Amino acid sequence: MDYKQKIKSITEKLPERTRLVAVSKYHPSEEIQKAYDAGCRIFGESHVQEVREKQLVLPGDIEWHFIGHLQTNKVKYIAPFISMIHAIDTPHLLQEVEKQASKHNRTIPCLLQLHVAKEETKFGFTTEECMDFLQKGEWMQMPHVRISGIMCMATNTDNEDQIRSEFRLAHEFFMKAKETIFRDKDYFCECSMGMSNDWEIAVDEGSTLIRVGTAIFGPR
Ligand SMILES: *Cc1c(COP(=O)(O)O)cnc(C)c1O
Repeated sequence: MDYKQKIKSITEKLPERTRLVAVSKYHPSEEIQKAYDAGCRIFGESHVQEVREKQLVLPGDIEWHFIGHLQTNKVKYIAPFISMIHAIDTPHLLQEVEKQASKHNRTIPCLLQLHVAKEETKFGFTTEECMDFLQKGEWMQMPHVRISGIMCMATNTDNEDQIRSEFRLAHEFFMKAKETIFRDKDYFCECSMGMSNDWEIAVDEGSTLIRVGTAIFGPR
């Protein structure tokens, strides 16, 4: 299948609320250009140096989403151009995004990473930590970041019930935060969940952004 077909086979199954982030990490700019020509405009990357190089040579209307673990000392390199940061996993990282975004007079949409999987990653807030952080409200003093929702990764397993229950937990948290803390804030609207092997479950469970790499670009 070519890119057009692969992308269509995914996007035709997406409800209106859900957008595709084409995860292009480790794939060269020429391949990204082909996916762009096939209609993709949102690309996900997880390495700072790599996304910097790619954004210099690829079309300017691409929305670059940073989806991986982000080190605080590297925020400055992506702050000038990044469209969304998916994996905010500490209050300290959010502070740094605020600082760097303000230097560029930008407001950067950010998602809080929830740790819902069993052992997959050590990164992310538990739902309790995340609610605590939101209730404390320091983020309200950060005009250059916009908390636009949450992201999570499910356990890498064949057990669909487990994956589903993890996505469900994350989505329940998202809805609770949306209806309480962010009640009057329409920008809190993104629930980033689902990858090549589990995006259909994630969409069932309310995902608004799926992050799909292998199913579009092949193995890395
Ligand atoms: C690599 C990556 C993806 C895409 O994974 P695939 O299995 O290739 O679709 C999605 N989300 C994150 C955070 C990733 O690091």
